[in-house]
Order: sequence, then structure tokens, then C-alpha cells
Amino acid sequence: MKHGITELDKIVDTLSGEARELFNRFYSFEIYTGSQKITAEMEDWVKKRFGSVERVEKQRIVSIKNKFTGEHSLFNGLRTDRPVESKSTIEQEERKEKEKCLFCNPEKQTPADVFGRVRGKYCITGSNIAKYDSFHSLIIFNEHNPLEIKREWIEDYLRTGERWFEEVRKCEGEKKLLQKFFLWNCLWRSGASIIHGHIQLTASRMRYGKLEVLDKVAADYKREFNTGYIEDLYKVHHSLGLASEHKAERVLVYLTPVKEKEIIVVSKARRSDEMADTIYGLLKKYLDMGVQSFNLAIFQLGDYHIVRLVDRGSLADRNSDIGAMELYAASVISSDPFKLAQVSF
Ligand SMILES: [Zn+2]
Repeated sequence: MKHGITELDKIVDTLSGEARELFNRFYSFEIYTGSQKITAEMEDWVKKRFGSVERVEKQRIVSIKNKFTGEHSLFNGLRTDRPVESKSTIEQEERKEKEKCLFCNPEKQTPADVFGRVRGKYCITGSNIAKYDSFHSLIIFNEHNPLEIKREWIEDYLRTGERWFEEVRKCEGEKKLLQKFFLWNCLWRSGASIIHGHIQLTASRMRYGKLEVLDKVAADYKREFNTGYIEDLYKVHHSLGLASEHKAERVLVYLTPVKEKEIIVVSKARRSDEMADTIYGLLKKYLDMGVQSFNLAIFQLGDYHIVRLVDRGSLADRNSDIGAMELYAASVISSDPFKLAQVSF
């Protein structure tokens, strides 16, 4: 697909009647032009920064909303026209931190869970010292550098996480329903406080609020349309060229991303480690694109395992990528899903 997000209207026009109907069931969108007048004093700077004055004086803005979940993203052509960029990594700083790294010595420097530690081949678990759920622990990678990844390492991390959930279930008694949640905050832009590579695990008795909203969306959708929300979400993305299948997983370049380059994986896998190949492949592509900091979450929704992955921007940036718009209104996005799809599949 050669169009970008700012030509979403043209892209939707090319869909067959049935596909367009399904798209319109899921999404409402509008395309506006934001106009302004550049002063003579600003002209040189604007040309240098954005290429031309005209592009800045008339900006194309796409506002798109998922009608079921309320997820809402705002794209501006001035930002999305840039190519998916490649940046250098942070080798120096990463090496500096290693000397006093607690996670390089996890058995001595991190607490153990009440049932002990789960040991993988390339990782070990530790309890999280400041918990936000009654069971909240860490998969601490043997490798310090979080941007160093291998397929078999990812598989081992996820398998170790699954084994940790089994231990928690034994501890709590099988009857209590515990929610499985993996979260991977990679480097400080993503909220990680420790550089050394680690994934967090929470086993919660209460369904997290945002996931409960998704449960409700899926249940209401089934009642109203007698088909699956996730299946149809995939169909819409597929019809636009924003989805593909990889092994047993379906990969969606999400049309209403929470932040930059959001990718969603849906899978009928019974355990997260069965998705290792797909997750590794996506992370590898992320790193090739120059992504330095990301958030990854894995949770269950009905029969599905869902993975959500999002880029959190350059490690050199001092300003946060999440402001009042993202917290209270809609997400402002610089990455074009259509361009991302071209380099992700
Ligand atoms: Zn370390």
C-alpha cells in the first residue's frame, strides 16, 4: 500500500463494500487541515526544519477513534511524513552502569519469593521489592544489556515467567483465579528504573481496569454481532494492509496506537513462550528501526494471548512522550502505521 495515514480516506475508498462496512463499524475518523501563517523571520528556520513553508502553513491532521474501546489517535502529516528512522544505541552509558548493577548479582541483591526462585537457562526470578500487586516479581536476564536479545533467550524468559505463575498458583491454591500479566519496560523512557534487562510479572486477583474494559467490549461485540471482536479487528487491519500472520500469531500494526509504532499480536497459544518466535522477530525489527526504549505487555483475553508493544522514543530526549493529551484525551502520534507495516512484515 503506497498511501500513508494522512490519505486514510482514499485507502478506505479502495476497500470492498463488506470490508468498508466492517471498517466503519470499528472506526470513525476525520481529516482536517490545520492552517497558520509563518512570519518572515521564521521562514529560514521552518525551511531548514520541515523542508518547506507551505507544508507547515497547511498541515493535514487525521483523527481516528476505535468506537468500541474509545482508543483515539491524532496523526499529523508533518510528523508522519518522516521515514522510520534509525538511531545509534547507548553502549557507553550501558557499560558505565554495569559496575554497580544490582541485577548483575540477583541471588544476593534481590529478594526471593516465598516459594523461592524459578531458574531459567538465561534468567532467574526475584521478588519485586516494592510491589503493586500481592504477587509481583521479576524475570532478571543473565544479560545486562536490555537491547541484546536472542530468540532462545526470549523463549526462556517467557517459559520462566509461565513457571513462576504455576508456582504462584500452587501457593495460592488452584481455586483462586489469578490474572497473568507480563510487563517489560525497556530502558528509562519506558518507565524502567533499572537498566539491566528484566520483565515484570504480576498475578492479580482483580482484573486490571483497562483489561476489564476490553473484556466488556469483546462480550458486547459478541452479543451484538454474533462474531468475535478480536477476529473482526484483525479482518479490518488485514483489509487495510496493516496485518499479517506469523506462525500461529496474527500481527496488527494498530490503527489507534497508544503511542509510537504500536504493534499488537493476537494468538491462540496456550502459553506465552509459544509466541517467542514472533515476539523475538518483532523486537529484532524494532531494534533494526533504531527503537531504544519500549513497553511490552502480555495478557489473556478470552481464549487469546495478547501482546502489545510500543516504542517510547529516543533515550536522548529529555521531554516525556506522554502529556496531558495522552493521559486525559487522545494520543498524539508521529509514526505512520502504513509505513510501519511496510517494514514490520
Ligand atoms: Zn546488570
